Amino acid sequence: MEKRQFKTEVSDLLHLIIHSLYSHKEIFLRELISNASDALDKAKIKSLTEGNSPAGELAINLSFTEGDKRSLTISDNGIGMSHDELEENLGTIAHSGTKQFLANLTAEQKQDSNLIGQFGVGFYSAFMVADKVEVVSRAYGSEQAFKWASDGHEKYTIEEAQRDGCGTTITLFLNDEGKEYANRWQIEQLVKQYSDHIAYPIFLTYSQNTYDDKYNVTGTETKTEQINTAAALWTRSKSELTEKDYNEFYKNNYYDSDDPLFYLHTKAEGATEYTTLFYIPAKAPFDMYHADYKPGVKLYVKRVYITDDDKELLPAYLRFVRGIIDSEDLPLNVSREILQQNRVMTAIRNASVKKILGEFEKMATQNPELYTKFIEQYNRPLKEGLYQDYANREELLKLVRFKSTAVEGWTSLESYKERMATDQKSIYYLAGGDEQALKKSPLLAKYREKGLEVLIMSDDIDDLVISSIGKYADFDFKAVNKSGAMDDFMSKDEKKKEARENKSLTDKIKKVLGDKVKDVVASSRLTDVSAVLVTDDSDPTVRMQQLFKAMGQDRFGKVAPILEVNLNDSFVKRIADSKDDAFVADASSVLLDQAYIAEGVLPEDPADFAAKLHSLLV
Ligand code: ADP
Repeated sequence: MEKRQFKTEVSDLLHLIIHSLYSHKEIFLRELISNASDALDKAKIKSLTEGNSPAGELAINLSFTEGDKRSLTISDNGIGMSHDELEENLGTIAHSGTKQFLANLTAEQKQDSNLIGQFGVGFYSAFMVADKVEVVSRAYGSEQAFKWASDGHEKYTIEEAQRDGCGTTITLFLNDEGKEYANRWQIEQLVKQYSDHIAYPIFLTYSQNTYDDKYNVTGTETKTEQINTAAALWTRSKSELTEKDYNEFYKNNYYDSDDPLFYLHTKAEGATEYTTLFYIPAKAPFDMYHADYKPGVKLYVKRVYITDDDKELLPAYLRFVRGIIDSEDLPLNVSREILQQNRVMTAIRNASVKKILGEFEKMATQNPELYTKFIEQYNRPLKEGLYQDYANREELLKLVRFKSTAVEGWTSLESYKERMATDQKSIYYLAGGDEQALKKSPLLAKYREKGLEVLIMSDDIDDLVISSIGKYADFDFKAVNKSGAMDDFMSKDEKKKEARENKSLTDKIKKVLGDKVKDVVASSRLTDVSAVLVTDDSDPTVRMQQLFKAMGQDRFGKVAPILEVNLNDSFVKRIADSKDDAFVADASSVLLDQAYIAEGVLPEDPADFAAKLHSLLV
């Protein structure tokens, strides 16, 4: 028997693992199973290239012993390890991805067991739950087996041993931390959680009591049962899967009782090899608008589950997408920070976004009814994409939908453009507030009269989104409730002339209202109302200010609106003609407050408004 000292880095690693992964000690099983699965992959390739069929079914076998000498055994008939390989692979970490992983961790991350627990740490994690580990291995093509053994402290031994056939058998002599794992239900549960989709069958051997007709124990029998599904649905080819298969998989894995709206299964081969299976839930996830939403995409590396808690796998605006990404190229022990900058991950992410958006577009043209259902749920997150994802803006502009004064239901920007009048200069829109209220806005009269379509934007983020887009197909977006709205219809000179002619009226009102307004303008575009609030082109609309205030953010400070009064209105005419200062003061104040009310905003002093209105009415 040879006695050897671990390389110092192994001692460090053991220390780190035992101390920082404490709360995630159960991952040792996932690590050992995935090593076994790799060894089976290698054996399969070897036997294929060398032309001899493997001895028996490639599989992983688990068994355990209860009681004082509790132990857990993980055995595979894979590639195995020679004497030197045992030494190299388990005595140093020079060949292990674990070393790279360790080197990349900062001191702070080493404290963060949650972080490390989500990613691979390899063989040594066995020492979290065992005070002794024995590895009996026989390399493929060799007659001789060897036994490697260690208590995880500095030393290990290697000696000759016996093993039928090639492969590796790892026995963990469980310590107090690990005693719970000498248990059939624990093992089954862990395999289901982490290793269900490993491509090889995982068998569990256990003994159970036998009974006679009167339920007296007559003895025990040993049973062996497969405990994993062993076929990751996404690894199967599309042609052998039915819609039902896909839907069942979704419902079983994503806690939804409804079928998904649709799914998308992609296998990418070439520079980066990966498989994705994405689902769009029929109903938006309940936490879609929570800042701490749970991401819906799980990351696997070669069928081994890595994490379902990474918000970087897809951009935030696609947070409603459910599904899996399974990469062939990422290392198992990739850390979260490394993942974010990882070239492979970035490539997968970018390609997936393109694919998903492309699929949405296909749905819009091929199945408009389904697309309407989709839009009812996900229009808003797509709009978020317009200011989050510059690279895909063109595509997203094709996907978002708006209500409009010209059509029932939703319209795309594309079809708005097709309906535009030949001499139409801009895309007109009215944003902020409830759809029905917007459709009744007095500001729309002029556009209706001229036969111009106005987009009705009732999502709270529309204003932000549109100001970030600026243009669509060379046409400016023009808000009908902004001061520049009439520029398309009146020349600068005409505007100036109108302002000059009404200067005495606007000055009169401005004097009374002071800094409550940024300006007072008179116009002839309004019908049925005395006045409306508009804002400077560069200012946030009254609605938008309200929105931010409601969210507890005083983002803009106080931006005074512009009061636009209707020249043809009799009440405004009365103000213009009046010589009674008290009346002008009350009337101007009421004019402003009722314009606020029409925007859904309470006047600053509601009681004062009521009193003044009353004095005007009696
Ligand atoms: P990693 O899997 O990241 O390389 P590990 O510490 O888990 O690191 O394993 C080190 C090496 O030991 C593996 O790369 C592999 O070559 C070898 N090994 C581990 N388990 C087995 C096994 N069951 N069969 C064959 N080789 C194994």
